[in-house]
Amino acid sequence: MPRCRLPAHPAHGHLIKRPFESLDGSVDYPHLLAPLDLGFTTLPNRVLMGSMHTGLEDRAKDYDRLAAYFAERARGGVGLMVTGGIAPNIEGWLKPFGGRLSMPWHVARHRTLTRAVHDEGGRVCMQILHGGRYAYHPLSVAPSRIKSPITPFTPRALSTRGVERTIRAFVDCAKLARDAGYDGVEIMGSEGYLINEFLAARTNRRDDAWGGSAEKRMRFPVEIVRRTREAVGRDFILVYRLSMLDLVDDAQAWDDVVRLGKAVEAAGATIINTGIGWHEARVPTIVTSVPRAAFTAITRKLKGEVALPLVATNRINMPDVAERVLAAGDADMVSMARPLLADADWVAKAKAGRADRINTCIACNQACLDHVFQNRVASCLVNPRACHETDIVIRPATQKRRYAVVGAGPAGLAASTTLAERGHAVTLYDAADVIGGQFDVARRIPGKEEFDETLRYFRHRLADTGVDVRLGTRVDAATLAAEGFDAVVVATGITPRKLSMPGGDDPRVLGYLDVLRGGVEVGPRVAVIGAGGIGFDVAEFLVEHVPSPTTDVARWTREWGVDLSHAVPGGLAKPAPEPPARKVWLLQRTPGTPGKRLNKTTGWVHRATLKAKRVTMLGGVAYERFDDEGLHIVVDDAPQVLAVDHVVVCAGQEPNRALADALGALGVATHVIGGADVAAELDAKRAIAQGTRLAASL
Ligand code: FAD
Ligand code: NAP
Ligand code: SF4
Repeated sequence: MPRCRLPAHPAHGHLIKRPFESLDGSVDYPHLLAPLDLGFTTLPNRVLMGSMHTGLEDRAKDYDRLAAYFAERARGGVGLMVTGGIAPNIEGWLKPFGGRLSMPWHVARHRTLTRAVHDEGGRVCMQILHGGRYAYHPLSVAPSRIKSPITPFTPRALSTRGVERTIRAFVDCAKLARDAGYDGVEIMGSEGYLINEFLAARTNRRDDAWGGSAEKRMRFPVEIVRRTREAVGRDFILVYRLSMLDLVDDAQAWDDVVRLGKAVEAAGATIINTGIGWHEARVPTIVTSVPRAAFTAITRKLKGEVALPLVATNRINMPDVAERVLAAGDADMVSMARPLLADADWVAKAKAGRADRINTCIACNQACLDHVFQNRVASCLVNPRACHETDIVIRPATQKRRYAVVGAGPAGLAASTTLAERGHAVTLYDAADVIGGQFDVARRIPGKEEFDETLRYFRHRLADTGVDVRLGTRVDAATLAAEGFDAVVVATGITPRKLSMPGGDDPRVLGYLDVLRGGVEVGPRVAVIGAGGIGFDVAEFLVEHVPSPTTDVARWTREWGVDLSHAVPGGLAKPAPEPPARKVWLLQRTPGTPGKRLNKTTGWVHRATLKAKRVTMLGGVAYERFDDEGLHIVVDDAPQVLAVDHVVVCAGQEPNRALADALGALGVATHVIGGADVAAELDAKRAIAQGTRLAASL
């Protein structure tokens, strides 16, 4: 059985002894850390690292990096890992020249990966993913010629021979995966990709042997599983990812899901993994505002219907959550993809009784899914080393120095802890009484409660790495110069932009920091000026009642119209949002509807949330003045008065460089990072990555 071995192998970067090596926390998570006997092999625990496209799967030259990424997670003790999706043929490519395993010469690159994982005692399955009508290229195919709402290409309907050819491609791909040394394959049957398209009347209008009734629609996945099992033999893991809740109309009924589960079991699957929601669904399934473990009830519904181990997925990110799901009998394993991007040592830390040291995935999607959708290599906001294991290497410093880091926001936290981990003497100053900078404000937004975890992680990391933390201390250049540090890392962040309009200095015109820190009372009618990320967050803060639905699965499913009893095919119900706590107007000067520049995979959720809360969103606004009547604006040449009690200004930010400039004038060596460096388009992803990379290089 693979053992969790720490510390990491020197060839892979971390040479530094970790604080979680000594304890044994297996008693804390008996279900999570219990082995799982699959008959021909035993998994060491119940953690499945779910498939996550990283952007490193597509080119042979990236497989060394991909191997290092998986090896680090194998070393961290994950029970079973699944790669990002690999297409079984060209038609199944997710995008042109995407990852594919269909030719013998493709095998070698995969061997690099499997060897690296096995050297660390891990196990890895390759996911076979046929994009179907979600494929982003003109060669896409589907059961029927029906375009998806999220891709520009209309797929070609597979002929009957084409269906047979596609099944053979899946089987051949699985055989090649076995040749490449994988421990198994996952057959991707959910999320609205090709197999899922065969299963739903919504996308399968065929009248041949592969459509027309639920039984016929089901034949495609069942034949793939049956023939794959015949081809690969009995001692090869075959995970089937089954869409248990489609969250679209005209989809599978629950009886069909159960029938498919049984058929897939009879056909030779080893494990059934859960899929929730098609990509075109208008219900969020993984973003941070989705409650933790929100969908495990649906996996539980299948328990007892099949004997195979079942895997629960979606928003399971901490060991106590996973343990609760398993102990309640909702599933036999938990799948986590992003949490293992965030922390390769997640399992090792749980095992060591050090869950408080886990760098928790906050489900922001900013560096993982958003990158993938922009054709960039995935990484992680809280862990910039993810998928960069070979280029961000944290080694002990050759020459130990004394550093001051000013600002305990994300940039300063990342820099100070990384510097100290490497052996430098670090003093971290912040004017505030708590760490976090703006992140400490962001965590107060409804649906961003996970941000607390990052601050908890950094609090421990500061202590573990021995950073000398001086909170409540605003430092100036003269003091720092007098201390004689070798260099000062300036991470002083930003200053909110002030608004210059008549009445802009009225006490009823508020800054977002005052509002979010709870220092002021806000009336029932509010105008928010500026509709960037912070404007949207402030609007959500103002319309939401406390506590937010993020912590309450029943309330959240009611608000979004999710029926976990799966009474109707697809599991959709009529959304019933709670009335807003206030009437809010969200305004921007740029013409058009606000929110177009929000993040790719989460922006639509913010827009939908505010729409449900009846927020009036206006673009093309000119701000005239604020007085006792309210906010005077002009939209499309028409003057209007918004009769509001308060205005909250979220008009962007300027870098806070005063300290950096003063230090420069005194000739002190400085490094400027985060918002203090560049405020435009600043986010915590850039701040943490910049702080980490700088500290790794000093
Ligand atoms: P800051 O976080 O601004 O920290 C600077 C620190 O320096 C402060 O703590 C300040 O007290 C300290 N300081 C300044 N001068 C001195 C001095 N002279 N002496 C001592 N201390 C000093 N980003 C995302 O990526 N995703 C999100 O979802 C997200 N949501 C957000 C929501 C809200 C409501 C807000 C306000 C921000 C959000 N952000 C988000 C932005 C993110 O928080 C910032 O980009 C990030 O905090 C910037 O980090 P930083 O370290 O550069 O600066
Ligand atoms: P932002 O995204 O740049 O938005 C600033 C807003 O203010 C824009 O809507 C802009 O739109 C308006 N504005 C700019 N100058 C103005 C002026 N002089 N008068 C009036 N309006 C003005 O910045 P932000 O909202 O402050 O967010 C800061 C950073 O935090 C962003 O870079 C963002 O990435 C990050 N963040 C991210 C998230 C997330 O969920 N990922 C959430 C919050 C924050 P107009 O010019 O059209 O008026
Ligand atoms: Fe999780 Fe955000 Fe990291 Fe993605 S980028 S793994 S969602 S913390």
